[in-house]
Amino acid sequence: MTIGPNLMSVSAPATSGQVPGLPDTAGTPTSALDRLLRSTSHRDRVTHVERIPARAATHAPWPEWVPTDLRAALRRRGVSKLWEHQAVAADCAWSGRSVVLATGTASGKSVAYLLPAVTSALTDQGTTLYLAPTKALAADQLRALRALELADLRVATYDGDTSFEDRDWARRHADVVLTNPDMTHVGFLPGHPRWASFIKRLRFVVIDECHGYRGVFGAHIAQILRRLRRIAGHYGANPVFVLASATVADPGLTARQLVGIEMVEVGEDSSPRAAIEFALWEPPLTDLAGERGAPVRRPATAEASGLLADLVVDRVRTLAFVRSRRGAEAVSLGARRALEESVPELAGRVAAYRAGYLPEDRRELERALHEGALLGVASTNALELGVDVSGLDAVLITGWPGTRASLWQQAGRAGRGAGNALAILIARDDPLDTYLVHHPDSVFGHPVEAAVLDPDNPHVVRPHLAAAAAELPLTEADVAGFGPAAPAALDDLVAAGLLRRRPTGWFWTARERATALADLRGTGGPPVQICERSTGRLLGTVDSGASHSTVHDGAVYLHQGESYVVARLDLEESVALVDAQTPDWTTWARDLTEISIVETRESLRRGEVTLCLGTVEVTQQVVSFLRRRIGSGEVLGEEPLDLPARHLRTTAAWWTVTEDLLTHAGIDAAALPGAAHAAEHAAIGLLPLVATCDRWDVGGVSTALHPDTAAPTVFVYDGHAGGAGFAERAFDQAQRWLTATHDAIAACECDAGCPSCIQSPKCGNGNEPLDKDAALRLLAAVITECWPPTEPATVRTATVD
Ligand SMILES: [Zn+2]
Ligand SMILES: [Zn+2]
Repeated sequence: MTIGPNLMSVSAPATSGQVPGLPDTAGTPTSALDRLLRSTSHRDRVTHVERIPARAATHAPWPEWVPTDLRAALRRRGVSKLWEHQAVAADCAWSGRSVVLATGTASGKSVAYLLPAVTSALTDQGTTLYLAPTKALAADQLRALRALELADLRVATYDGDTSFEDRDWARRHADVVLTNPDMTHVGFLPGHPRWASFIKRLRFVVIDECHGYRGVFGAHIAQILRRLRRIAGHYGANPVFVLASATVADPGLTARQLVGIEMVEVGEDSSPRAAIEFALWEPPLTDLAGERGAPVRRPATAEASGLLADLVVDRVRTLAFVRSRRGAEAVSLGARRALEESVPELAGRVAAYRAGYLPEDRRELERALHEGALLGVASTNALELGVDVSGLDAVLITGWPGTRASLWQQAGRAGRGAGNALAILIARDDPLDTYLVHHPDSVFGHPVEAAVLDPDNPHVVRPHLAAAAAELPLTEADVAGFGPAAPAALDDLVAAGLLRRRPTGWFWTARERATALADLRGTGGPPVQICERSTGRLLGTVDSGASHSTVHDGAVYLHQGESYVVARLDLEESVALVDAQTPDWTTWARDLTEISIVETRESLRRGEVTLCLGTVEVTQQVVSFLRRRIGSGEVLGEEPLDLPARHLRTTAAWWTVTEDLLTHAGIDAAALPGAAHAAEHAAIGLLPLVATCDRWDVGGVSTALHPDTAAPTVFVYDGHAGGAGFAERAFDQAQRWLTATHDAIAACECDAGCPSCIQSPKCGNGNEPLDKDAALRLLAAVITECWPPTEPATVRTATVD
């Protein structure tokens, strides 16, 4: 059951008003939501209910080119008929047209690429390279392909764990190789001569879950795919690309940016779907005091525990998605405790999913949920991908999961039989969540956002050109394939002595591995290794840019949901030593930031306001960290840190206002710093609404008088060297972004500001000064000045994204 991109056209009119009446239940059994809403206190927390009707399936005949033994194998696996989108995408690929298939969870996307890939392997020795974002997903595909039991189909995985013998076998015999982008980057492409026989026959490249490739990481993937296309061409192959994505806006654009070629878009989901009642839920404010005495909202996880218990009592099979494993455990524990008091025999039928990525554990969980042995499970988002848990009655989503694509992927797990499925989004104490639960149109009325990526980020292009030259000397003709930033990047590489220009092209002349220059999962400097102090075990790495704020001394660091405390961050050795510990708090790093404008690339003067986009130099120092109690969010204290300042050249969007505008808005010199600061915090919190980023991917600076602009200025910048495309998005979508920022602050019922509106967990100034009222006046004045309400036509077109 799935929710397609056609959500807008099929969704029932939104229930108007703040609190919905009880759903119309005439002639139908009471729904799980009706029963939850019998409690008045529950009713007060629901801000909206969206009803999404059921959809019937549309089938299509099997394409004639699919051999009978493959059809029979799929039938044995339960695929007796094709849905139309599967047949259309498979036909496209088979006829040589690259295609992106963007449909919902459990819409059988893998069948669409499996048909051409396996047919080619069985009939003309064509090979397929399959890229998944995670090893677990590649392992699932391996199992699915093996389960077809086709003797002539040879499938292999190729990842960091693959033995040398198995790699050898894969190179010589495999028809389908399942791998990931990292391995393609460091293994497959540099080792292409050894893969020559596979690459010569390369017919299809499948990129699964491609909506996850965004920001700087997405830009790296785009460059790897350009290298792959060049190497394939060298061996005379011209593979067809088949991309699978969750439903996103404009999947063709994202696909084109990723692969660099035109793509056919298939976005009409023809799989069946149950009806869903989707509630937006806001936990109440509590009496606890947070920073500067601000009110603290009841944590989303506490709310999820209560709801999970209530639903289990009603025998509603429920999956609760929670951000961390620890949070998932707390939710399941809370639900079990509540059940022990009310219906003790049900307490044992609630569990946390904490088994990591082991396939056996996932199979066991799937089984227990399907059979009803378990009624309630709290899980991290690890279950979002690659697990066959669908057909549940209800899904609880604890906090905005970052993107609409994730939201629907999670909600899509609910829906079985003819009854209504239930999904509930529970808001966290955060401005974006506050905004969303008060603006249902931004959740349900917009198509799922397109992934934001900038394949031409010079910081990303440069190392991949070096890697490409090391794979095969770069010719003049090759350069265009790497985009407009390539010529300048080549000059840089030559000047740095890494490439040599010869009459026939550019050659890699350095001795080290060229691929080491590209740090796929981060930027700038060697990554910091995270080692467990007692065992010396390497847990993982964080990119050096993020290390000061994530693995400083005393930081609580989560690795695959397990909790560690950093004993010492050694910057010289790039190592963070950690101890396994589960303290009762989380930590938030705080920084002081200065910013200077290097170049203004675009500027838009609108009366008393100027909006700009350009290059900035950011100097940032992490100065302290805050401890907040898990469960209540209460602030326990702040500790200073002694870390050096860091410099970052990146892209920023900023706006300035004149004295006249301030006077008009009634903001005097005393109120201005608090107004600009509060607007900046909320604007950072709301940027993920228009750009597919996390609030931790961007930073901000506000000042009553900036030396470079000689005016009050609010900056929001990309936290990645060279920029990840987020600031551009902020500039392009300024109206929607700033309007949402204003509305989020206005929607919060606190008096003087709280974490749900203008307080920021990473503020270097301890959330001082902040002025909620003045921020609202400032934002309202800016919005009216830039987009006067007398020009409705302009306003409307500018908000469409
Ligand atoms: Zn507030
Ligand atoms: Zn601040």
